[in-house]
Amino acid sequence: MLFSPQQFKQQFPLFSQPENCELVYLDNAATTHRPQVVIDAVADFYRTSNANTHRSSHRLARRATEMVEATRIAAGRFLNAAEPSEVIFTRGSTEGLNLLASSLTENLSPGDEIVLTTAEHHANLVPWQMAAQRHDLILKFVPHKNGVPQFDRVEEVLSERTKIVSVTAASNALGFMADLGPLKQVLADRNIRWIVDAAQLAAHQVVDAQTIGCDFLVCSAHKFYGPTGVGLLYGRRESLAALPPWQGGGEMIEQVQLQSSTYGAPPHRFETGTSSLAAIAGLGACLQFLQQLDRDAMAAYEQQLTDYLHQQLQKLPGIDLLSNAESNVGIATFAPAVESALQATDIAHWLDGRDIAVRAGRHCAMPLMELRSGHGSSVRASIAAYNSRNDIDRLIESLQNCLAATQSNSSLVTTADADHLEELSIEQLRQQRGWQQRYRQLMKWADAIAPKPGIRTVGNRVRGCEAATWVSHRMVDDRHQFFIDSEARVVKGLAALLLLLVNNKTTAEIAALDMDALFADLGLEKHLSPSRSNGFRALVNRVLQLSGSLLG
Ligand code: PLP
Repeated sequence: MLFSPQQFKQQFPLFSQPENCELVYLDNAATTHRPQVVIDAVADFYRTSNANTHRSSHRLARRATEMVEATRIAAGRFLNAAEPSEVIFTRGSTEGLNLLASSLTENLSPGDEIVLTTAEHHANLVPWQMAAQRHDLILKFVPHKNGVPQFDRVEEVLSERTKIVSVTAASNALGFMADLGPLKQVLADRNIRWIVDAAQLAAHQVVDAQTIGCDFLVCSAHKFYGPTGVGLLYGRRESLAALPPWQGGGEMIEQVQLQSSTYGAPPHRFETGTSSLAAIAGLGACLQFLQQLDRDAMAAYEQQLTDYLHQQLQKLPGIDLLSNAESNVGIATFAPAVESALQATDIAHWLDGRDIAVRAGRHCAMPLMELRSGHGSSVRASIAAYNSRNDIDRLIESLQNCLAATQSNSSLVTTADADHLEELSIEQLRQQRGWQQRYRQLMKWADAIAPKPGIRTVGNRVRGCEAATWVSHRMVDDRHQFFIDSEARVVKGLAALLLLLVNNKTTAEIAALDMDALFADLGLEKHLSPSRSNGFRALVNRVLQLSGSLLG
């Protein structure tokens, strides 16, 4: 193999900082770290070459302009564009997609159609939704199996009104790479603009825009070891030539009169104002850095790690693995088993406590994650070429410990810990005359909450509650059961009130509750001290989060 992960990692100064020497960084799909050469190039630009580009004719301005255009040439090579002018510098994939969603739809007619997949990152969904609302367009979605687009069935959603197809090359949430071959064939002789979101793919595979055959392609430098604030929009020459400008301003014009202007040719027509020049300098260094590596060997190494990660996760009882190792850009996504008292955020907190960085949530792909799992949120571990088997072993060992700790804790929630809420009703509380009586009633209600030593763990602790308070949760069929304990009597009383509202309810029933109105009606916000009120709010939010009614 022509790739050495150890040598590769040594080039990333973040890992040699004393506070990071134990860090296991598995959040690379969100952003990667930068090698020294990229950091130096950003600093050197300001230190030695800072000037604005394409405007002034002095020495520094010429140097900065040359740097930008040299980076464009390198970026053209990186994406295998036919010519450098097919590359536009953006702030990132999101900006590239917004540009396209805005410019490509400008001349569409109501009823025209845009085809997307259900696996898109929000960046390739929301801009199209906005454009569709603006111009009365229709969004359609490629048929899928378990969330994976089936491009061999794309004809089913194409029609004479289809004007745009915009799809991801690799899922940021589950890691699968899309097989774009069938799409290329189907779109070859149709007048449809085809966009590929390569934000994840470009970090792991050599991207060849001409072989893919799309009209446009976007990616972000920070996903492939480059700086934040710069991305690439590739546009095939003819496709770019027909594209109206997105933003107006300096740099993109030819002639400006008071009432109208004429626009420059691509790529400058789409590079309005002053670009992130230092970031472009960093990108130039990053592309050089990547060029010196055997990227196929790098991809093979990452695939080995991806396989190993999935194999190890599969062996863990108590978690549901949502991703597959096959054709995957280094992403493993998993959730605690449905019956578990754990939530994905608990796992992420636990791992963070052991210096292992992962992401918990819906990964900016809510529709896909809703489709793929019954879990509200999941944990994503994403690999880069500086990761090692040792990183994965650390992750797995910590997960095992987390699951074991939770199992022993939830088994301690026994019938002896059962709360006695049968005699309580919200009506009782409402009928009390005045706040003083109501407060006394809440203090009495505290006795209904049984002490639960088994749930008093770090993972169950409610953050933001001044008095130590713990919540654990489990599902029985489709109903939520919560277990609350607190050191403060009044919090226990408030917990009884909360449990009357949410215990044994379904997710939909909990989501439909108007708790704010009820609490205002009972005078809680008005009469509780600010710290108690904030603590109660934190408890309510935690319960909503565990029920999946509040985003984690
Ligand atoms: N598309 C995909 C597939 C992504 O994974 C991301 C970011 O995670 C984006 C688009 C947006 O990228 P950026 O935030 O760099 O604009």
